[in-house]
Amino acid sequence: MSDPIVVGIGREQVKIVPGSFRSSVVFKKDFSKTVVVDCSDGRFTPTNEEFVERMFGTCNPDGLETPGGSAALSMTSAASVAQYMSVKESLIFLVKGHNSGVVVLFAHEDCGHYKHKNPGRSPEEIRLIQLRDLRSCLKLVSDMLPSHVIVRAFFKRLEKDHVVFDEVLPT
Ligand SMILES: [Zn+2]
Repeated sequence: MSDPIVVGIGREQVKIVPGSFRSSVVFKKDFSKTVVVDCSDGRFTPTNEEFVERMFGTCNPDGLETPGGSAALSMTSAASVAQYMSVKESLIFLVKGHNSGVVVLFAHEDCGHYKHKNPGRSPEEIRLIQLRDLRSCLKLVSDMLPSHVIVRAFFKRLEKDHVVFDEVLPT
């Protein structure tokens, strides 16, 4: 590891340690054509890469991660109006900027955000709220994006040691 150096000039100086870590993963320059709206819960994230590759034939999906995932795009389940507006604007920005062709909306079992928003509700009741949110988000996102963008919604649940994806249909 290198010694710290100072970059910048005058009062705008920042001290950095160059090359603090070098990844062995080869960087792919092309933007992904898929955006994934998912919960920040890292336990469910590693499956996304395999999912978009097998389902849509693309890799390295752009991730829009926030507590609750697609909950952020539901006025009743978002943490706040600010979160709702922010995720909505970020999604439009990403799709436009990377010319995305697919948007995937996720929610998942055992989600801390939904448990916090729905105290006293059973896992089955929370699951139904999540499925309804995914269905309404499907319509919202489909309506706000260009018609050529494919929008799909999935609920991730656990089956023993694996994550299973249940697709939510618009009607
Ligand atoms: Zn979650």
